[in-house]
Amino acid sequence: CGKLYVVATPIGNLGDISFRAVETLKQVDLIAAEDTRHVGMLLQHYGISNKRVSLHQHNEDKASQVLLEKLQAGLSIALVSDAGTPLLSDPGMPLVKLVKEAGLDVVPIPGACALIAALSAAGLPVSQFTFEGFTPRTSSARKSFFSERALSPVTWVVYESSHRILACLQDMAAVLPLDREIVIARELTKLHETIVKTTLAKALALVESDENMRKGEFVVIVDGAVIDKSEQELSPEHLRILAVLLKECS
Ligand code: SAM
Repeated sequence: CGKLYVVATPIGNLGDISFRAVETLKQVDLIAAEDTRHVGMLLQHYGISNKRVSLHQHNEDKASQVLLEKLQAGLSIALVSDAGTPLLSDPGMPLVKLVKEAGLDVVPIPGACALIAALSAAGLPVSQFTFEGFTPRTSSARKSFFSERALSPVTWVVYESSHRILACLQDMAAVLPLDREIVIARELTKLHETIVKTTLAKALALVESDENMRKGEFVVIVDGAVIDKSEQELSPEHLRILAVLLKECS
């Protein structure tokens, strides 16, 4: 059987691709791409002309089955998305799941990922974090989403687009403390790369006042909440109620 290679491609700067990724893309029989034309520009840059097939969010269940059959017939396939690491807020999960369930090898070829690039330059704690993907589309859903994360003790990260960055920060400011530290990482690895670490209030003011801060692609990183340990401890009254409840349950 052939192998499936999950290949990370650049998130902006074309220099951000590994030697191994280029070699793999040259050697495979087939490249499964989110957008075959988009990846065409990248492949052309590296002198790669292998056959391409499309695998995007609207065809991935059916296309994955076809690709599995090709792997079983002995072809090797590279999976790429438009930018960065496939599966991370990008297509590919059904294919990788199917291939693994069929007992075939899935080989990661690591590289650029906006989430990791942003975290590496943010200056916020990263020993533990949660990646929350894209935020919900409506303002009310976003506010609930942010409220649910307001007390998270660890750093959390969202992806955001240019049309929603302002609304995203406005909704965040409606439910999170305004002095919470956040990082806005914009246009990473590109000409207008900007990484700003400041309070939520100042970040919102910046994005409101500077039109350029609403352009491009964004990763927003939010510092975890500082939880006062004394507030977490149960009062004698709570302990008494708990003891009664436990006795009732036993
Ligand atoms: N798979 C990609 C990765 O590995 O990061 C993410 C793909 S997702 C469809 C696109 C989102 O990732 C953008 O809306 C933005 O939130 C983030 N993103 C991608 N490239 C970026 C960049 N150069 N700078 C900042 N954020 C970026």
